[in-house]
Amino acid sequence: MSKAFEVVIVGGGAAGITIAAILNRRNRQIRVAIVEPSDVHYYQPALTLVGAGVQSLSHNTRLEVQVIPKNATWIKDKVVSFEPEDNQLQLAGGDSVQYDYLVVCAGLQCDWDKIEGLVDNLGKNGVTSNYSPEHAPYTWECIRDLRADDGPAVFTQSAMPIKCPGVPQKIAYLAAHYFQKKRRRDIPVIFRTATPSIFGVPYFAKVLMKVIKGWGIDFTPQTSLIKIDGKKRMATFVDGEGQTSEVEYGMLHVVPPQSAPDFIQSSPLADENGWMDVDKNTLQSTRYDNVFGLGDVTNSPNSKTAAAIRKQAPVVIDNLLALKANADLSSDYDGYSSCPLTTSYGKMVLAEFRYGGQVTPTFPLSPKVPRRSYWYLKLWGLSILYWDFMLKGYEWDKAHDVDFVED
Ligand SMILES: Cc1cc2nc3c(=O)[nH]c(=O)nc-3n(C[C@H](O)[C@H](O)[C@H](O)COP(=O)(O)OP(=O)(O)OC[C@H]3O[C@@H](n4cnc5c(N)ncnc54)[C@H](O)[C@@H]3O)c2cc1C
Repeated sequence: MSKAFEVVIVGGGAAGITIAAILNRRNRQIRVAIVEPSDVHYYQPALTLVGAGVQSLSHNTRLEVQVIPKNATWIKDKVVSFEPEDNQLQLAGGDSVQYDYLVVCAGLQCDWDKIEGLVDNLGKNGVTSNYSPEHAPYTWECIRDLRADDGPAVFTQSAMPIKCPGVPQKIAYLAAHYFQKKRRRDIPVIFRTATPSIFGVPYFAKVLMKVIKGWGIDFTPQTSLIKIDGKKRMATFVDGEGQTSEVEYGMLHVVPPQSAPDFIQSSPLADENGWMDVDKNTLQSTRYDNVFGLGDVTNSPNSKTAAAIRKQAPVVIDNLLALKANADLSSDYDGYSSCPLTTSYGKMVLAEFRYGGQVTPTFPLSPKVPRRSYWYLKLWGLSILYWDFMLKGYEWDKAHDVDFVED
């Protein structure tokens, strides 16, 4: 069976719902469909708080049907392939869907199988990951129950790109603080990352090196986790020179390698690395004028966060509606992204930056300083912004300071 819509959105995650909701507010006449296979929608930015025992997973979960805007038709299926020359895509259930305009926001996939032993051990033997919503509560169990005799708390980070690159270290800081509060300072905390430094933006890397040293965390860059032996609680790493090393752990928080979803990689929309190829400013496909992309799935060189999507979505809608009206694409995304880095229970650094790693704060406060006010912003403010503003299509925005001079 074939269905036809004016706008088809692939993926009903943070980006897909935001796009549908803004369209709903700007022009209710447009026939919109969202293709999304999942029944549930997680507020992923709170998974760090779930892993740290601050909030529950259920508090950050809604049914997909609750977040799909009224104007949109939900096609509960998976896209398997695109035929952009014919303005058509194919679904796993056998139907095809035709569109005038396509917006692709299928997120990214976690490649759990790329680390030997990870699939078999995730959720047991002290192996956990906040990148898997179902396992974020197990992260908290691991932190809460760890004793020095069990071995060190080990946190890893895989090579970029990963979504919200602050995630691997945020949970390490919270664990270190928890151990301190519970007088378990004798638990060693180890952080090993495949990246050359703690954070991609040098201004914030300096700040975060102070934080990591302050907690006494043993930090090693350019070292990747390659194997887990759950029974022996042994993690194997390889460094930049190809040397392997083994670390016995009490708990192991893993950040898996991440890539574009397979059906994007094999599609005509992908670049040579498999990510959806878009113009980094207009977010239009570089190959098909009536196709746009945003969120984690694209190759635009911003940090992959929900905060980036909040700024990208109005740009995509402006440009899609301009195209529909035969006008020029005049709206540009400047690469804004933000990473709320919880540096302890009670404090947070709000790292905001745009293309080129230029620091661009929203509030008139030094971005270097871990602040209690930002912790409360994370705890309450940002989730309200997500569920009640972004996913409802409200475009209220506070401009970020593009002329900020680094202090
Ligand atoms: C632990 C963690 C902490 C984070 N912390 C923060 C933070 O503090 N701040 C921040 O801004 N960001 C944070 N992020 C990142 C942020 O959550 C993501 O960048 C954002 O959710 C990406 O949105 P998206 O719509 O691109 O992808 P997603 O929200 O992942 O949605 C993609 C959707 O596509 C669907 N899909 C997949 N395959 C198909 C298919 N074949 N057909 C149709 N649909 C398909 C999926 O089911 C999914 O619903 C965090 C992420 C994690 C995991």
